[in-house]
Amino acid sequence: MNNKVNILGVYVDKVSISQAADSIMSFISGEGSAKAVYTPNSEIIMHGYRDSELCDILNDADLLTADGIGVVYASKILGNPISERCAGYDVACTLLDKMGKEGKSVYLFGSKPGVAELAGENLLKKYPGLAVVGYSDGYFDAEKEGQIIADINSKKPDVLFVCLGAPKQEKWIYNHKNELQCRVCMGLGGCLDVFAGTVERAPDFYCKHGIEWLYRLIKQPKRFFRMLDLPRFAVTVLLKGKKFKQDR
Ligand code: UDP
Repeated sequence: MNNKVNILGVYVDKVSISQAADSIMSFISGEGSAKAVYTPNSEIIMHGYRDSELCDILNDADLLTADGIGVVYASKILGNPISERCAGYDVACTLLDKMGKEGKSVYLFGSKPGVAELAGENLLKKYPGLAVVGYSDGYFDAEKEGQIIADINSKKPDVLFVCLGAPKQEKWIYNHKNELQCRVCMGLGGCLDVFAGTVERAPDFYCKHGIEWLYRLIKQPKRFFRMLDLPRFAVTVLLKGKKFKQDR
């Protein structure tokens, strides 16, 4: 079996959290244009299944990790299993720890005004040695977007966290990565809210039992309609998943 699993047309890397963080560290020390890292969950893969443009964007990534137990189950059903769930938040924490030890830098982009700064303060306490070199909130028009890109390029971070929600962040990274002076762009959804402490991550019980989605639904009931994609994803994988070739 190869090192990726084809889930409804999206090629997800079969990596563990620590392997994902190691790959990103190697991107930081590598050369060439900025690398793209996304962490799709079942909802985003389902979105990519319906939207070929998003599917192409996901498959253009340099690393795609399985954020969500649904993606891990799907890989098992398809006979090409991923060893563990590799959530964006967990990859980011492992990566930041490694980055701190090597004095690398991160720029925090996304979420509501003030959240990135709060997240930055907490990250500096938690990961000694890490440099947080810039912040921008995630609500912008074309003019502000130009200023954000100029700010990122003046700071030249090793890693840019882009937290605009999916699939906005994946599309933004895809459209801009060639003009960004950073080594890695990572799409990380609501992670800045969690780092800032303005949103709580699901307690361990929910994460361990693969029902983090239930916790998020209880806390944010407006997610109900987009979460209808979770059962749709399960049914589509069961009925059509094996039609997608595992060899690239
Ligand atoms: N967000 C943003 N700009 C936007 C829309 C959303 O910065 O135009 C932020 C929002 O404030 C939140 C994050 O994107 O911090 C989305 O979080 P969510 O948990 O919904 O991420 P997802 O589940 O979509 O990955």
